[in-house]
Amino acid sequence: MTVDDFIRKSKDGQTFTRKELEAMLAFAPDSPESYRIMAEANRISKTLTGNKAEVHAQFSLNLAPCAGGCKFCSFASVNKVFGSSSEITPEQAVEKAKSFESSGANAVFVMTTAHYPFERFIDMAREIRRNLEPETVLVANVGDRTHGEARRMKDAGFQGVYHALRLREGIDTNLDPRKRRQSIRAFQEAGLQLGTCVEPVGPEHTDEELAEMILFTGSFYPSYSGAARRIGIPGSELAVRGMITELRLAQIVAVTRLGVPGSVQGLCVHEPSTLGAFAGANLFWAESGANPRDVRQETEHGRGATVHQCRELFREVGWGVLEGPSRYYATRGSQRERRERAGP
Ligand code: SF4
Repeated sequence: MTVDDFIRKSKDGQTFTRKELEAMLAFAPDSPESYRIMAEANRISKTLTGNKAEVHAQFSLNLAPCAGGCKFCSFASVNKVFGSSSEITPEQAVEKAKSFESSGANAVFVMTTAHYPFERFIDMAREIRRNLEPETVLVANVGDRTHGEARRMKDAGFQGVYHALRLREGIDTNLDPRKRRQSIRAFQEAGLQLGTCVEPVGPEHTDEELAEMILFTGSFYPSYSGAARRIGIPGSELAVRGMITELRLAQIVAVTRLGVPGSVQGLCVHEPSTLGAFAGANLFWAESGANPRDVRQETEHGRGATVHQCRELFREVGWGVLEGPSRYYATRGSQRERRERAGP
């Protein structure tokens, strides 16, 4: 198929096979074919959202060497970046959440490393929730959870979660891919809206792996999908493999847009970039505190962007930014209803 065929098929609202996504990913990132796919992805994203992008903002409750063994993560003890643990207090957590809320974040994310005690996490969540405006969207980014734990997170005031089956999960991590999938189901069955992503992309990932992951993310009708590139953690085994360019990431973001159902409104790119937004991304994250892609303890002094910076990046490429609570995490209806809305 030519790029004309792909664009026509997309405009007709048809779904793409893995082989077709692979063919789109195989175009050179700086080719006219890739630019046309980016333009089509941008068109879809703007149509789905009325040209209103979103900025979500994440902070971490703790920083700790983690046995999860994810070779791309600065918390992984195997990477020897952080030797000691620290946690923020409930008061500090509330202050960070309120600061994001007042700066206009469309959703506030609370992150922990995989082994942060669950009871403490629920207590912290209740305290944060109690201090935010009722309409502020609260989202969790935590390790694998059971059905019971997912229901307790919902009861504690979370509207959604971020969870992903990472590329080469179980190979570049010590985590069980089946557990990642089970957690995704548990979160959705508990009524939590789920966002996900194709991550963390490195130069060694093949078009076939990426296409397969794009289809997997679309298969459970998330609030958003998208793509994030791996950031090299200095001294780590994976840093030797290098990083993909922002342009290649933008291409993957665009192909992801074409590869997931039309009921998926959101399309994230991480880290934030004008190229990603140009290619259709309509979700950026601001970050503060500990960050698994940073070697600084407070990423606001390192890689992390502010809400204001994210909003400005969107404006640079013609995106408006939503005022008020996230629409992605407010997606109404069950997974079955979203599947039906997605059409054939
Ligand atoms: S990604 Fe999560 S589970 Fe993996 S090492 Fe980092 S904190 Fe641990």
